[in-house]
Amino acid sequence: MFVDIAKIMLKAGDGGNGCVSFHREKFVAAGGPDGGDGGKGSDIVFEVDDNLSTLADFRYKRKYIAPNGDNGQTKKSSGRSAKNLIIKVPRGTLLKDAATGNILADMSSGEPFIAAKGGRGGWGNSHFATPTRQVPNFAKSGKAGETIEILLELKLLADVGLLGFPNVGKSTLLSVVSEATPKIANYHFTTLSPALGVVRIGVGESFVMADIPGLIEGASSGAGLGFEFLRHIDRCRLLVHIVDVSGSEDRDPEKDFDAINEELAAYSPELATRPQIVAGNKTDIADPEAVEKFRAFVEGKGFEFFPISAAAHLGLDKLIGAVRQKLATLPPVKVYEPQPRETAPLISDKREVEVEVRGKVYYVKGEWLKEVINSVNFNDTDSLRFFERMLKNGGVIAKLEETGINEGDTVNIYDMEFDYVR
Ligand code: GDP
Ligand code: MG
Repeated sequence: MFVDIAKIMLKAGDGGNGCVSFHREKFVAAGGPDGGDGGKGSDIVFEVDDNLSTLADFRYKRKYIAPNGDNGQTKKSSGRSAKNLIIKVPRGTLLKDAATGNILADMSSGEPFIAAKGGRGGWGNSHFATPTRQVPNFAKSGKAGETIEILLELKLLADVGLLGFPNVGKSTLLSVVSEATPKIANYHFTTLSPALGVVRIGVGESFVMADIPGLIEGASSGAGLGFEFLRHIDRCRLLVHIVDVSGSEDRDPEKDFDAINEELAAYSPELATRPQIVAGNKTDIADPEAVEKFRAFVEGKGFEFFPISAAAHLGLDKLIGAVRQKLATLPPVKVYEPQPRETAPLISDKREVEVEVRGKVYYVKGEWLKEVINSVNFNDTDSLRFFERMLKNGGVIAKLEETGINEGDTVNIYDMEFDYVR
């Protein structure tokens, strides 16, 4: 099964916690603080891998959790930062923020893309010594790594897309004009995943041709294979529409031609106006009169027409020559510009406070408070003072007052409780 779209969850690594420790040496009393910093959590980075041509890897693995940074150690030794988590995708994959649909990156160049940043490590207590505070009994906890849901969408990078019903000879053509070896068989739907081939013309000149799974009637309304696969020709600069003119399988070339173009227009009016040239295939077994009749039909609609036989290698030079000429006049393959990322502000930057009153207990909630509580040492006066300051500056005290708290009532912040004293 060919997979060209996937949704995955990313969780970058958390930073390691800073360490609280004091220098100890024989015969030396009360050494200074020497707690090291936590290491940075792992970033999650996307990279292009040209050996991949589908998103099948993401069908079963949907959650990517990157390793955390190590905690700081004694003797000022920092925790180890986690190695980045690399996710490989086929070239041409679009990365979208699943929450907004915004494009974050087009993996077309070779540039890696950091999709989720790991959290910074927290400072160890050695940073918090001041002339008046020689025994800092606290350290900072590491920051949480970013979490994001990503939509992957494969949009092949090809100059030319082959269009046509199943069995008309698309794979055969690609195998003959390029080094690609797509499956060729005399039954429908042999092409289940797209194949890309490089067509070399002269020295150092080439273009990329894509054989995409066959379109069938009703494709754009979701019948059969077609609908999803139309996405792949989205980026092609030129479409080569292949029609079986031999009338094998009782096909009517004119009807086939119109049916495919109607499907295209129904899927995307923009795609329907994409430059298109027409190749009538299987001329080796076709009635020459039928070929000429079809030529008149196609040219009457304003398209260029080329009679070929992919299997018997007839008319291919002319077709490829025309493709080359046409490509020279067309804009390069479309690259999507990243759209602004509407990042949910990092948890710690968003100081929202909610207070819920049950009896005489005031329950305070706010994601950022979890982090504060984690880095406070409640047995240490300096640390407590820091905590009080955070409550005041973060608007917790104001909110409690507003809600009508009285002296002696209980404040509960994530199971940490204390009496309210004005
Ligand atoms: P696709 O489904 O469009 O990719 O079609 P294939 O390339 O798999 O070809 C379908 C069948 O048509 C195969 O049996 C091919 O051998 C046959 N075929 C392809 N091109 C020609 C041709 O030029 N002449 C003849 N007689 N048969 C052809
Ligand atoms: Mg095929």
